[in-house]
Amino acid sequence: MTKQSPITPAALSSRAQVSAPYDMVAEQFCAFAQQIGLQAEDSDEGVSIRFRLGQINLSGTAVQTQVELTSESASSLQLLRDLVAERMTEAGLTPEWSTKAVSSQPANMSMTTVVEVRPLTPSYTRVVIEGPDLARFDEGGFHFRLLFGPEGAGWPYLDNAGITQWPGGSKAWHRPVYTTRSIETQPDGLTRIAFDVFLHDGGRVTEWCRSLTVGTQMAVTGPGGGRGAVPAAWVCLIGDETAVPVIARMLKDLPETTKGAAVLFVPDAGDIQDLPHPRDVQIEWKLRGGDATPLGSLQDAILPNQDRFVFFAAERKEVIAARGYLIDNGLDKGEFQCAAYWTDEDMEKRDER
Ligand SMILES: Cc1cc2nc3c(=O)[nH]c(=O)nc-3n(C[C@H](O)[C@H](O)[C@H](O)COP(=O)(O)OP(=O)(O)OC[C@H]3O[C@@H](n4cnc5c(N)ncnc54)[C@H](O)[C@@H]3O)c2cc1C
Repeated sequence: MTKQSPITPAALSSRAQVSAPYDMVAEQFCAFAQQIGLQAEDSDEGVSIRFRLGQINLSGTAVQTQVELTSESASSLQLLRDLVAERMTEAGLTPEWSTKAVSSQPANMSMTTVVEVRPLTPSYTRVVIEGPDLARFDEGGFHFRLLFGPEGAGWPYLDNAGITQWPGGSKAWHRPVYTTRSIETQPDGLTRIAFDVFLHDGGRVTEWCRSLTVGTQMAVTGPGGGRGAVPAAWVCLIGDETAVPVIARMLKDLPETTKGAAVLFVPDAGDIQDLPHPRDVQIEWKLRGGDATPLGSLQDAILPNQDRFVFFAAERKEVIAARGYLIDNGLDKGEFQCAAYWTDEDMEKRDER
């Protein structure tokens, strides 16, 4: 453990008490932190662990542990509280939360209504959802999850302790990630989010889109993930079909002076869209069916030595290879982001045999 620097006060917090020795609880959380590549830090009163969602502070005595969670948004605080509750339950501990939930809806979840569904191009359907509390999706990361539960199950809710309960068990829920392609708050105060679904065989979201009608209710959680390309004079954005929406957003937000290239893979010439982008970022659309792959495009790219940023999003295995390629070519952690957007389950099953 290292001695930590002072903690910036976060906007929101939750507290709980656990009837268990501080040393035992701290040891379990420190081991968990280590497992996921985080380092616990000594604080004046005990120990702290910083997650992307916020911070867990533990202190206490030989018989009792105090848990304090701090986070910058109600949505992240909810996720942190759920995470702590899950770890405590696994360890056979029952935290007593002093801050009670004010609503039965998890703070990171919103109920929405589908207000538009239409074919965007041959391989994509555009869906627009609307809700009264979606404005936060304009401030956090670019992404959110759709929630598909077991047939007939209700939506997730908060129990008396303020912990998210998943009807049928959390493992029974399918929670695919999508990208907010655009977001706008209407004069009536309702916010609309548009997202583009790449249609593919066997996809549960593809099936949902096929029978989707205006007025359908859908729960979403988020926002999550990053907010696009790290500022650099030169960028290279490479993505497969699922990354077209995020690269479209990144291109739109880049400063006009940015130079570089974007390579996007789609199955059909009709999927090519006119995307606003800085003049000196060259966009190349590649059609599936030939020899070109996202990984091959990365290997063909000529990267400058400095002031550069590479974004690569595609199938999991290709992403692992891309990350290895960039590290081998001397890029530092802050100079690239490689994100697995989907997993080819058929390929994984073939590999297991
Ligand atoms: C940060 C992030 C942002 C994303 N944004 C978008 C987005 O805006 N639009 C979008 O369309 N997708 C996006 N994705 C990808 C999407 O979440 C996955 O494709 C997801 O698996 C789709 O769920 P599903 O229910 O359709 O299929 P699943 O039920 O997850 O999978 C069913 C079958 O389909 C296969 N499969 C899954 N995805 C694909 C694919 N792309 N091509 C071929 N076969 C596939 C699986 O291997 C499995 O066999 C994003 C993913 C991430 C991580």
